[in-house]
Amino acid sequence: MRQAIAEKWQISGDGYFTKYSQRHLETLLGAPRVLLTSSCTHALEMCALLLDLQPGGEVIIPAFTFVSTVNAFILRGAKPVFIDIRPDTLNLDEKLLESKITPRTKAVVVVHYAGVGCEMDKIVEICQRHHLPIIEDNAHGLFASYRGKPLGTFGVMATQSFHETKNIMCGEGGALVINDPRLTERAEIIREKGTNRSQFFRGQVDKYTWVDVGSSYVLSDVLAAYLAAQLEASDKIQARRQEIWQGYHTALPDWAAQNGVTLPTVPSYCQQPAHIYYLLLPSLDYRQRLIAYLKQNQVTAVFHYQPLHLSPMGRQYGGAAGDCPVTEDLADRLLRLPLYYDLTAAQQNKVIDLIHNFHDR
Ligand SMILES: *Cc1c(COP(=O)(O)O)cnc(C)c1O
Repeated sequence: MRQAIAEKWQISGDGYFTKYSQRHLETLLGAPRVLLTSSCTHALEMCALLLDLQPGGEVIIPAFTFVSTVNAFILRGAKPVFIDIRPDTLNLDEKLLESKITPRTKAVVVVHYAGVGCEMDKIVEICQRHHLPIIEDNAHGLFASYRGKPLGTFGVMATQSFHETKNIMCGEGGALVINDPRLTERAEIIREKGTNRSQFFRGQVDKYTWVDVGSSYVLSDVLAAYLAAQLEASDKIQARRQEIWQGYHTALPDWAAQNGVTLPTVPSYCQQPAHIYYLLLPSLDYRQRLIAYLKQNQVTAVFHYQPLHLSPMGRQYGGAAGDCPVTEDLADRLLRLPLYYDLTAAQQNKVIDLIHNFHDR
């Protein structure tokens, strides 16, 4: 970052560090094209634009995800069709997928919760049969894989987040992963305010002009420099995060069994990226008591997504209690434990000791 500023390199978008980070991600994922964006939210908006969604088109989206996964498609006038999750991985329940597909369905959005892959074999098979594009919101899943294939390479497009809360971050930032090369040219145009600026800089056209709809989805090269440094340190960051994740997973099974608590399920064919370590507690009450107890002892543990179909906005799209029973149940019982690169062994041991001493039934 110091280099980006001191050497007076281009610090708007698409400078040296943007290109460096994009190439790094293309190699890591084995994806034909990656474009850095100002956020994962904006990368999702680009997906919705690239799908040419029309008002009335339906998009199938899990009820257990971040608001951006849905907003991007609503902004194009699409109707979200919420689908429930599996009780084990908390991912879209592929057994329900066909029942949600109608003649108006335009796309299926999958979210790999905690970076544990959705059942992609089945989902890809269903979507191919119905000629439906898959979009992967892979905000949690950088470095993760399903049956050896990186998450983010299953959909026509995938999105990554480099928000401060993610494993690899630059404050605010994201990326669009383009797995279908037919979408690349238009993606570059949409990202550059609807102009063919990218082609102009490559010398492919002799002037740059307004050719399509678009917006400003480019990341500043100052932030890309921060991101490049994080990507270079990713082995170290990931190794430490894995150590912490495994630390919880090794220490908690006996306590969990005695207290009716479920630890994360990771199928043997999924490699998870140590993004989230969560507990599924017996009840909402139990969770609130555990949060309060940890807080009294200076430990912050937080819950996660609330069911989107039951939010004020979700209800405007017809969401009602009982639509997604697994989401409704688990959202109330999930608790995330502290997991970040700087967490010390002593701090983690304190969290584990506190939990071991919590018996509340
Ligand atoms: C963090 C997150 C986003 C949003 O990412 P931003 O980069 O903050 O826009 C979207 N979807 C999921 C699943 C996320 O966890």
